[in-house]
Amino acid sequence: MENRLPMEETLIMIKPDAMLAKNAGEIITILEKSGFELKKSKIFRMDDELAEKFYVEHVGKDFFPGLKKFMQSGPIMALVLERENAINYLREIVGCTDSSKAEPGTIRNLYGNHNFLTSNAVHASDCPVSAKREINLIFQNNK
Ligand code: ADP
Repeated sequence: MENRLPMEETLIMIKPDAMLAKNAGEIITILEKSGFELKKSKIFRMDDELAEKFYVEHVGKDFFPGLKKFMQSGPIMALVLERENAINYLREIVGCTDSSKAEPGTIRNLYGNHNFLTSNAVHASDCPVSAKREINLIFQNNK
């Protein structure tokens, strides 16, 4: 019998650094070639309220002001992606938080700033609970 993993939705956000560097198209191509269906998309700017809700686990940490400033430095593109095992698979092809340590060929290795940890090209949801919460937050209860 075939061992299929569950179909899932996850969220990717192309952060302002990658948007300003015009890397959104290449990142979307990687996602399509990796078998993701593009279900929803949106370009927006992150205000204070959204930054504090989205990164609630980081509010109060020393890097939060810099993270907020970076996320507000330009437009962001959010996409809801669907695929088997979407959440873990996306995290794999995105690579680890620090772009300079991300595996060769991963999105953060290719498009992140290797000298500035915060500037790592994309966000990817890290578990099913976060994916649901983040999709609802960005797409306002899936509208
Ligand atoms: P990830 O985005 O890989 O899930 P986290 O949720 O830990 O990582 O952090 C959210 C974002 O905050 C990171 O993607 C990165 O932009 C920034 N960040 C995380 N840790 C640091 C840090 N120590 N210094 C500066 N920026 C950080």
